[in-house]
Amino acid sequence: MTSLVIQTAFLGDVVLTTPLLEALAARHGPVDVVTTPAAAPLIEPHPAVRRVIPYDKKGRDRGWRGLVNLVRGLRAERYECAYLPHRSLRTALAAWLARIPRRVGFDDGWRSLYTDIRPRAKQGHEVDRLLALADVAAHRARPSLYVPLADRVATEGFLREHGMQGRFVALAPGSIWGSKRWPYYGALAERLAGRVGIVVVGGPEDAGLAAEITEAVARSGGHAVSGCRRLTVRQSAEAIRRAAVLVTNDSAPLHFAQAVGTPTVAIFGSTAPSFGFGPRGPRDRVVELEGLPCRPCSAHGPPSCPLGHHRCMKSLRVEDVLQAIEETGALRRRD
Ligand code: SF4
Repeated sequence: MTSLVIQTAFLGDVVLTTPLLEALAARHGPVDVVTTPAAAPLIEPHPAVRRVIPYDKKGRDRGWRGLVNLVRGLRAERYECAYLPHRSLRTALAAWLARIPRRVGFDDGWRSLYTDIRPRAKQGHEVDRLLALADVAAHRARPSLYVPLADRVATEGFLREHGMQGRFVALAPGSIWGSKRWPYYGALAERLAGRVGIVVVGGPEDAGLAAEITEAVARSGGHAVSGCRRLTVRQSAEAIRRAAVLVTNDSAPLHFAQAVGTPTVAIFGSTAPSFGFGPRGPRDRVVELEGLPCRPCSAHGPPSCPLGHHRCMKSLRVEDVLQAIEETGALRRRD
Protein backbone atom coordinates (compact mmCIF):
# COMPACT_ATOMS: atom_id res chain seq x y z
CA MET A 1 0.00 0.00 0.00
CA THR A 2 1.54 3.32 -1.05
CA SER A 3 0.58 6.23 1.17
CA LEU A 4 0.30 9.78 -0.05
CA VAL A 5 1.56 12.89 1.74
CA ILE A 6 0.40 16.28 0.50
CA GLN A 7 2.78 19.00 1.71
CA THR A 8 2.70 22.15 -0.39
CA ALA A 9 3.82 24.61 2.28
CA PHE A 10 7.16 26.47 2.23
CA LEU A 11 10.47 24.79 1.41
CA GLY A 12 11.52 24.64 5.07
CA ASP A 13 8.22 23.00 6.04
CA VAL A 14 8.82 20.29 3.46
CA VAL A 15 12.27 19.60 4.94
CA LEU A 16 10.71 19.38 8.41
CA THR A 17 8.26 16.80 7.06
CA THR A 18 11.03 14.32 6.14
CA PRO A 19 10.94 12.48 9.52
CA LEU A 20 7.21 11.90 8.92
CA LEU A 21 8.00 10.52 5.45
CA GLU A 22 10.59 8.21 7.00
CA ALA A 23 8.18 6.99 9.68
CA LEU A 24 5.52 6.21 7.08
CA ALA A 25 8.01 4.55 4.73
CA ALA A 26 9.25 2.33 7.56
CA ARG A 27 5.71 0.93 7.89
CA HIS A 28 4.55 0.48 4.33
CA GLY A 29 7.42 1.39 2.01
CA PRO A 30 8.29 4.67 0.31
CA VAL A 31 5.49 7.22 0.00
CA ASP A 32 4.28 9.46 -2.79
CA VAL A 33 4.44 13.18 -2.08
CA VAL A 34 2.58 16.10 -3.61
CA THR A 35 4.70 19.20 -3.15
CA THR A 36 5.70 22.49 -4.74
CA PRO A 37 8.03 22.64 -7.77
CA ALA A 38 10.58 24.38 -5.53
CA ALA A 39 10.65 21.52 -3.04
CA ALA A 40 10.30 18.64 -5.51
CA PRO A 41 14.03 18.35 -6.45
CA LEU A 42 14.96 18.38 -2.78
CA ILE A 43 12.92 15.33 -1.80
CA GLU A 44 12.98 13.38 -5.09
CA PRO A 45 16.23 11.58 -4.09
CA HIS A 46 14.98 10.82 -0.57
CA PRO A 47 14.83 7.05 0.08
CA ALA A 48 11.50 7.45 1.91
CA VAL A 49 9.95 8.83 -1.27
CA ARG A 50 8.70 6.69 -4.15
CA ARG A 51 7.46 9.47 -6.38
CA VAL A 52 7.09 13.24 -6.21
CA ILE A 53 4.06 14.89 -7.78
CA PRO A 54 4.82 18.58 -8.30
CA TYR A 55 1.84 20.88 -7.81
CA ASP A 56 2.44 24.50 -8.82
CA LYS A 57 -0.40 26.04 -6.83
CA LYS A 58 0.77 29.62 -7.46
CA GLY A 59 1.68 29.16 -11.13
CA ARG A 60 0.82 26.60 -13.79
CA ASP A 61 -1.65 24.70 -11.57
CA ARG A 62 -3.29 27.77 -10.08
CA GLY A 63 -7.04 27.78 -9.65
CA TRP A 64 -9.80 25.24 -9.96
CA ARG A 65 -8.53 23.67 -13.19
CA GLY A 66 -5.14 22.90 -11.64
CA LEU A 67 -6.82 21.34 -8.63
CA VAL A 68 -9.07 19.20 -10.84
CA ASN A 69 -6.04 17.96 -12.79
CA LEU A 70 -4.28 17.07 -9.55
CA VAL A 71 -7.36 15.27 -8.24
CA ARG A 72 -7.69 13.26 -11.47
CA GLY A 73 -4.08 12.09 -11.18
CA LEU A 74 -4.45 11.17 -7.50
CA ARG A 75 -7.71 9.33 -8.08
CA ALA A 76 -6.08 7.18 -10.76
CA GLU A 77 -3.44 6.06 -8.24
CA ARG A 78 -6.12 4.66 -5.85
CA TYR A 79 -4.24 5.62 -2.70
CA GLU A 80 -5.70 4.14 0.46
CA CYS A 81 -4.39 6.76 2.84
CA ALA A 82 -3.38 10.42 2.62
CA TYR A 83 -1.49 12.35 5.30
CA LEU A 84 -2.16 16.08 5.31
CA PRO A 85 0.33 18.01 7.46
CA HIS A 86 -0.51 21.39 5.89
CA ARG A 87 -3.66 23.03 7.23
CA SER A 88 -4.83 24.09 3.81
CA LEU A 89 -8.32 23.82 2.37
CA ARG A 90 -6.90 23.06 -1.08
CA THR A 91 -4.89 20.13 0.32
CA ALA A 92 -7.87 18.72 2.22
CA LEU A 93 -10.14 19.14 -0.79
CA ALA A 94 -7.65 17.41 -3.10
CA ALA A 95 -7.55 14.29 -0.92
CA TRP A 96 -11.33 14.28 -0.43
CA LEU A 97 -12.14 14.82 -4.11
CA ALA A 98 -9.60 12.12 -5.05
CA ARG A 99 -11.76 9.75 -2.94
CA ILE A 100 -8.85 8.59 -0.84
CA PRO A 101 -10.68 6.57 1.80
CA ARG A 102 -8.46 7.47 4.77
CA ARG A 103 -7.42 11.10 5.20
CA VAL A 104 -5.35 11.99 8.25
CA GLY A 105 -5.13 15.63 9.27
CA PHE A 106 -4.74 17.86 12.33
CA ASP A 107 -7.55 19.21 14.46
CA ASP A 108 -6.74 22.80 13.48
CA GLY A 109 -7.28 22.01 9.78
CA TRP A 110 -10.40 21.06 7.80
CA ARG A 111 -11.85 18.45 10.12
CA SER A 112 -14.98 17.73 8.09
CA LEU A 113 -12.80 16.63 5.17
CA TYR A 114 -10.65 14.24 7.23
CA THR A 115 -11.47 10.73 8.41
CA ASP A 116 -8.75 10.65 11.10
CA ILE A 117 -8.05 13.71 13.21
CA ARG A 118 -4.92 14.11 15.30
CA PRO A 119 -4.38 16.86 17.87
CA ARG A 120 -1.66 19.32 16.83
CA ALA A 121 0.54 19.98 19.85
CA LYS A 122 0.79 23.64 20.84
CA GLN A 123 4.32 23.17 22.17
CA GLY A 124 7.37 21.27 20.98
CA HIS A 125 9.31 21.18 17.76
CA GLU A 126 7.52 21.11 14.42
CA VAL A 127 9.29 17.87 13.47
CA ASP A 128 7.69 16.16 16.48
CA ARG A 129 4.32 17.79 15.89
CA LEU A 130 4.28 16.48 12.32
CA LEU A 131 5.30 12.99 13.45
CA ALA A 132 2.16 12.88 15.57
CA LEU A 133 0.22 12.63 12.32
CA ALA A 134 1.56 9.07 12.05
CA ASP A 135 1.08 8.41 15.80
CA VAL A 136 4.84 8.51 16.38
CA ALA A 137 5.88 9.89 19.77
CA ALA A 138 8.34 12.79 19.87
CA HIS A 139 11.91 11.51 19.81
CA ARG A 140 14.04 14.48 18.68
CA ALA A 141 14.19 13.15 15.13
CA ARG A 142 16.21 15.26 12.72
CA PRO A 143 15.11 16.11 9.22
CA SER A 144 17.14 14.51 6.45
CA LEU A 145 18.16 15.33 2.89
CA TYR A 146 19.95 13.21 0.32
CA VAL A 147 22.06 14.98 -2.28
CA PRO A 148 22.87 12.89 -5.37
CA LEU A 149 26.50 12.46 -6.41
CA ALA A 150 26.15 14.68 -9.48
CA ASP A 151 25.03 17.61 -7.32
CA ARG A 152 27.81 16.99 -4.81
CA VAL A 153 30.35 17.02 -7.62
CA ALA A 154 28.82 20.17 -9.14
CA THR A 155 28.95 21.95 -5.78
CA GLU A 156 32.54 20.93 -5.22
CA GLY A 157 33.40 22.23 -8.70
CA PHE A 158 31.63 25.53 -8.02
CA LEU A 159 33.48 26.02 -4.75
CA ARG A 160 36.83 25.12 -6.31
CA GLU A 161 36.24 27.41 -9.27
CA HIS A 162 35.64 30.28 -6.84
CA GLY A 163 38.64 29.54 -4.69
CA MET A 164 36.72 28.07 -1.73
CA GLN A 165 38.93 25.09 -1.07
CA GLY A 166 39.43 25.60 2.64
CA ARG A 167 37.08 26.11 5.51
CA PHE A 168 34.18 28.50 4.90
CA VAL A 169 31.18 29.97 6.67
CA ALA A 170 27.83 29.88 4.89
CA LEU A 171 25.54 32.88 5.29
CA ALA A 172 21.83 32.79 4.45
CA PRO A 173 20.68 36.42 4.64
CA GLY A 174 17.28 36.00 2.98
CA SER A 175 13.72 35.40 4.09
CA ILE A 176 10.42 35.87 2.33
CA TRP A 177 9.35 37.93 5.35
CA GLY A 178 11.26 41.20 5.65
CA SER A 179 10.94 41.41 9.42
CA LYS A 180 12.88 38.13 9.73
CA ARG A 181 15.95 39.48 7.89
CA TRP A 182 18.86 40.50 10.07
CA PRO A 183 20.36 43.59 8.42
CA TYR A 184 24.06 43.19 9.28
CA TYR A 185 25.22 40.17 7.27
CA GLY A 186 27.57 42.38 5.22
CA ALA A 187 29.34 43.66 8.35
CA LEU A 188 29.49 40.13 9.76
CA ALA A 189 31.00 38.82 6.54
CA GLU A 190 33.66 41.55 6.58
CA ARG A 191 34.63 40.57 10.14
CA LEU A 192 34.79 36.87 9.28
CA ALA A 193 36.50 37.18 5.93
CA GLY A 194 39.94 37.69 7.49
CA ARG A 195 39.73 34.18 8.96
CA VAL A 196 37.63 32.07 6.59
CA GLY A 197 35.97 32.10 3.20
CA ILE A 198 32.34 33.21 2.91
CA VAL A 199 29.70 31.50 0.79
CA VAL A 200 26.29 33.15 0.57
CA VAL A 201 23.42 30.74 -0.01
CA GLY A 202 19.80 31.39 -0.90
CA GLY A 203 17.33 31.42 -3.72
CA PRO A 204 17.42 33.57 -6.87
CA GLU A 205 15.39 36.21 -4.99
CA ASP A 206 18.29 36.64 -2.55
CA ALA A 207 20.85 37.49 -5.24
CA GLY A 208 20.70 41.24 -4.49
CA LEU A 209 21.31 40.74 -0.77
CA ALA A 210 24.11 38.30 -1.58
CA ALA A 211 25.77 40.80 -3.95
CA GLU A 212 25.80 43.44 -1.20
CA ILE A 213 27.64 40.98 1.04
CA THR A 214 30.18 39.78 -1.51
CA GLU A 215 30.92 43.38 -2.59
CA ALA A 216 31.40 44.48 1.04
CA VAL A 217 33.83 41.61 1.60
CA ALA A 218 35.71 42.35 -1.64
CA ARG A 219 36.13 46.01 -0.63
CA SER A 220 37.71 44.91 2.63
CA GLY A 221 40.12 42.57 0.84
CA GLY A 222 38.40 39.30 1.82
CA HIS A 223 36.98 36.50 -0.26
CA ALA A 224 33.27 35.74 -0.65
CA VAL A 225 31.13 34.11 -3.29
CA SER A 226 27.39 33.94 -3.83
CA GLY A 227 25.63 30.71 -4.75
CA CYS A 228 22.32 32.52 -5.36
CA ARG A 229 21.19 31.95 -8.98
CA ARG A 230 24.24 29.68 -9.45
CA LEU A 231 23.51 26.70 -7.23
CA THR A 232 20.33 24.65 -7.43
CA VAL A 233 18.40 23.92 -4.28
CA ARG A 234 20.14 20.54 -3.92
CA GLN A 235 23.54 22.10 -4.53
CA SER A 236 22.76 24.78 -1.93
CA ALA A 237 22.04 22.01 0.58
CA GLU A 238 25.39 20.49 -0.32
CA ALA A 239 27.17 23.84 0.10
CA ILE A 240 25.60 24.13 3.55
CA ARG A 241 26.71 20.57 4.36
CA ARG A 242 30.30 21.48 3.48
CA ALA A 243 30.26 24.70 5.52
CA ALA A 244 31.93 24.86 8.93
CA VAL A 245 28.87 26.69 10.24
CA LEU A 246 25.75 28.31 8.80
CA VAL A 247 24.50 31.70 9.96
CA THR A 248 20.87 32.12 9.00
CA ASN A 249 17.60 33.83 9.76
CA ASP A 250 14.50 31.84 10.70
CA SER A 251 14.15 30.52 7.14
CA ALA A 252 14.54 27.38 5.01
CA PRO A 253 18.39 27.17 5.12
CA LEU A 254 18.14 26.71 8.90
CA HIS A 255 16.27 23.44 8.28
CA PHE A 256 18.67 22.44 5.49
CA ALA A 257 21.54 22.74 7.98
CA GLN A 258 19.66 20.66 10.54
CA ALA A 259 19.10 18.00 7.89
CA VAL A 260 22.73 17.82 6.78
CA GLY A 261 24.24 18.17 10.26
CA THR A 262 25.97 21.53 9.96
CA PRO A 263 26.31 23.64 13.14
CA THR A 264 23.88 26.53 12.96
CA VAL A 265 23.64 30.04 14.33
CA ALA A 266 20.01 31.07 13.91
CA ILE A 267 19.02 34.73 14.23
CA PHE A 268 15.43 35.24 15.35
CA GLY A 269 13.62 38.60 15.19
CA SER A 270 9.86 38.86 14.84
CA THR A 271 9.40 35.12 15.43
CA ALA A 272 10.75 32.93 18.23
CA PRO A 273 12.28 29.46 18.55
CA SER A 274 9.41 28.53 20.87
CA PHE A 275 7.18 28.39 17.79
CA GLY A 276 8.89 25.06 17.08
CA PHE A 277 11.19 25.93 14.19
CA GLY A 278 14.48 26.53 15.96
CA PRO A 279 17.71 24.53 15.64
CA ARG A 280 18.26 21.81 18.20
CA GLY A 281 21.68 20.32 17.63
CA PRO A 282 24.06 20.36 20.62
CA ARG A 283 26.39 22.90 18.96
CA ASP A 284 23.66 25.13 17.53
CA ARG A 285 23.07 28.59 18.89
CA VAL A 286 20.18 31.05 18.73
CA VAL A 287 20.71 34.82 18.71
CA GLU A 288 17.61 36.79 19.75
CA LEU A 289 16.60 39.84 21.77
CA GLU A 290 14.87 38.69 24.90
CA GLY A 291 12.51 40.93 26.83
CA LEU A 292 11.31 43.06 23.92
CA PRO A 293 7.58 43.45 24.69
CA CYS A 294 6.43 43.45 21.05
CA ARG A 295 8.25 40.22 20.27
CA PRO A 296 7.28 37.83 18.77
CA CYS A 297 4.74 39.75 16.73
CA SER A 298 3.36 37.16 14.31
CA ALA A 299 3.47 33.48 13.44
CA HIS A 300 5.37 33.91 10.17
CA GLY A 301 6.87 37.35 10.72
CA PRO A 302 5.28 40.36 9.01
CA PRO A 303 6.74 41.75 5.74
CA SER A 304 8.05 44.75 7.69
CA CYS A 305 8.08 45.87 11.31
CA PRO A 306 4.57 47.09 12.18
CA LEU A 307 6.11 49.53 14.70
CA GLY A 308 8.64 50.85 12.22
CA HIS A 309 11.76 50.43 14.37
CA HIS A 310 12.56 46.72 13.76
CA ARG A 311 14.34 46.68 17.09
CA CYS A 312 14.11 42.88 17.38
CA MET A 313 16.71 42.58 14.62
CA LYS A 314 18.52 45.90 14.62
CA SER A 315 19.49 45.47 18.30
CA LEU A 316 21.33 42.22 17.58
CA ARG A 317 24.96 43.21 17.09
CA VAL A 318 27.58 41.65 14.86
CA GLU A 319 29.51 40.87 18.06
CA ASP A 320 26.55 38.84 19.38
CA VAL A 321 26.57 36.70 16.24
CA LEU A 322 30.36 36.36 16.26
CA GLN A 323 30.17 35.18 19.88
CA ALA A 324 27.54 32.59 18.91
CA ILE A 325 29.74 31.37 16.05
CA GLU A 326 32.62 30.96 18.49
CA GLU A 327 30.38 28.98 20.83
CA THR A 328 29.61 26.44 18.09
CA GLY A 329 33.35 25.63 18.05
CA ALA A 330 33.19 25.46 14.25
CA LEU A 331 36.07 27.88 13.67
CA ARG A 332 38.43 26.51 16.29
CA ARG A 333 41.84 25.72 14.93
CA ARG A 334 42.25 22.04 14.10
CA ASP A 335 45.46 20.44 15.31
S1 SF4 B 1 6.94 44.67 16.15
FE1 SF4 B 1 8.66 44.07 17.44
S2 SF4 B 1 8.93 41.90 17.02
FE2 SF4 B 1 7.65 42.71 15.37
S3 SF4 B 1 9.10 43.25 13.74
FE3 SF4 B 1 8.81 45.09 14.99
S4 SF4 B 1 10.45 45.04 16.51
FE4 SF4 B 1 10.26 43.00 15.62
